[in-house]
Amino acid sequence: MTEIKKRLSDIVQQICEAEVQAGRPQGNVRLLAVSKTWPADMLRQLAEAGQQAFGENYLQEALAKIAQLDDLALEWHFIGPIQSNKTRDIAKHFHWIHSIDRLKIAQRLNDQREPNEAPLNICIQVNIDQEDTKSGIAADELDSLVTAILPLQHLKLRGLMIIPAPHNSEDQQRQSFHKARELFEQLKTLAPDVDTLSMGMSGDMQLAIQEGSTMVRIGTALFGSRNRQTR
Ligand SMILES: *Cc1c(COP(=O)(O)O)cnc(C)c1O
Repeated sequence: MTEIKKRLSDIVQQICEAEVQAGRPQGNVRLLAVSKTWPADMLRQLAEAGQQAFGENYLQEALAKIAQLDDLALEWHFIGPIQSNKTRDIAKHFHWIHSIDRLKIAQRLNDQREPNEAPLNICIQVNIDQEDTKSGIAADELDSLVTAILPLQHLKLRGLMIIPAPHNSEDQQRQSFHKARELFEQLKTLAPDVDTLSMGMSGDMQLAIQEGSTMVRIGTALFGSRNRQTR
């Protein structure tokens, strides 16, 4: 087994263990392999080992990989900030978008999605710790954005995505995840079909699963570190 396949099976195992620890049914939490900066042949190895969902942040890089891997039935998730001049390609080539935080972007994606394709799965990104520099809408703006998005026929609202602030203590991390979980439960009263809480990365996956994540986005722990980043 190659090293990356070994890391995949370790992470799948860790997700199972975290589910059991949290008293949640197995298979409740999906793994999104965050493959930004990594070449297509590494993704192919993961696909051979059964990984289907891949997350990308940069459109041009992603489009090249999608083309290189189009013999495989992969599921592509866009997780980076979205500029409005990029929506056409995103609507055409991706299955999921995690980083919706403006109605204008949602409307463009809806208009540009091919009507005969399945609706685009979307998550709304919430700026859970109210950071000045971070994308995502404020929690108190969520309801009005949801109400405006729900009628859009070519989008399917699946849930929320959050990236917590870099906290020092586990307690603070847990609080951010907990806030997100509460918002997610509230959202279900407005949109009963939502089923996805996208939270948890390499450094905080276990905690996110304990607090109710249904999809963890894992880059570094799977592929290795980008640009010697510490997280
Ligand atoms: C890069 C990225 C990740 C992966 O982070 P790691 O710490 O490398 O696991 C997850 N989510 C988003 C939105 C990202 O941009």
